[in-house]
Amino acid sequence: MTGPDERLRRRRADVARRLAHITDEIDELRGDRGAESADDEHDPEGVTLSAEWSRLEGLRAAASTELDDIDAALGRRASGTYGMCLTCERAIPVARLRVRPDATRCVDCATASDR
Ligand SMILES: [Zn+2]
Repeated sequence: MTGPDERLRRRRADVARRLAHITDEIDELRGDRGAESADDEHDPEGVTLSAEWSRLEGLRAAASTELDDIDAALGRRASGTYGMCLTCERAIPVARLRVRPDATRCVDCATASDR
């Protein structure tokens, strides 16, 4: 049985690895584009690279946000506010924290804020 700290640290390592991989791909793509990136709109391959670029940037932004969320959760562990819903201040059910260790809201409040 692993505790929240363990789960958060493991998840953080996973996301950090994913982020590093995405960053590598972006660097590779940057190398492929080289000095001709200014011609993107006239070059069919350039358009494909642009689409791939946008996709990777999206993935990177998502992974980066996830990392921030996990760090915030680790910070809440340290300050003793972990597992408390930010909206209604009730305890977030353990089952939810098991699935989403970086959850900041209970299911009710999370659903309400998504609307
Ligand atoms: Zn709540």
